[in-house]
Amino acid sequence: MKNSDKDQVVAYIGLGSNLENPAEQINSAHAAIAGLNDVEELAFSSLYHSPPMGPQDQPDYINAVMAIATNLPAMDLLRSLQHIEHEHGRVRKGERWGARTLDLDLLIYGGQQIDLPELTVPHVGVAERAFVLYPLYEIAPELLVPGKGHIADLIRSCPLNGLERLA
Ligand code: ATP
Ligand code: CA
Ligand code: CA
Ligand code: CA
Repeated sequence: MKNSDKDQVVAYIGLGSNLENPAEQINSAHAAIAGLNDVEELAFSSLYHSPPMGPQDQPDYINAVMAIATNLPAMDLLRSLQHIEHEHGRVRKGERWGARTLDLDLLIYGGQQIDLPELTVPHVGVAERAFVLYPLYEIAPELLVPGKGHIADLIRSCPLNGLERLA
C-alpha cells in the first residue's frame, strides 16, 4: 500500500445543472473533479433528468452522482468543489434552490457525520431526494448512508417524482 493511500476516504458528490447546456456543464464538472489533485475517480452514474425542486419557474435539471477516493480533508474538498462551481459561472443569488449553471454537493464523506456551519455531511437531501438517491444507488447499491440507513431502504420510500434516467 502506498503511504498516501492510508488516509484515503471514499466520498460521493452530487452534480446538478439547469442553465447553459446542463449536460455539458455536468460532463465538464466531472472532468474537473477527476482532475483535482488528491482525488481519484471511482465511478460516475448515468445522467438523469429531473423537474426542479422549489421554485417551479426554472428549467428542468440534469443530475448525476460521482464516487471518488480522496486524501483531501472534507472542508478542503468542499472548497475545491465551490471553486469548480465558480469556474462554471455559478452565481450565488438570494433565492434558495434557484436556477444555476452548476451545483456540487458533498453527499457523503466516508463514514463521517459532520455538522459545521458551512458543511453538513451526509448532505441534508441525501435520504429523500430522488435525483440524489437513484443515481447514488446506480453506482453504490450496497451503500450505508451514515446516520440514515441502507440505500436500498431509502430508495424504497422515495418516489421517482418525475426523475428519468437518460440513455
Ligand atoms: P441544498 O443544500 O438544499 O441542496 P443548494 O445546493 O441550492 O441547496 P447552495 O446555495 O449550493 O445550496 O449552498 C448553500 C451552502 O450549503 C453552501 O454555502 C455550503 O457552505 C453549505 N453546505 C453545507 N453542507 C454542504 C454539503 N454537504 N455540500 C455542499 N454544500 C454544503
Ligand atoms: Ca485526480
Ligand atoms: Ca444542492
Ligand atoms: Ca449546493
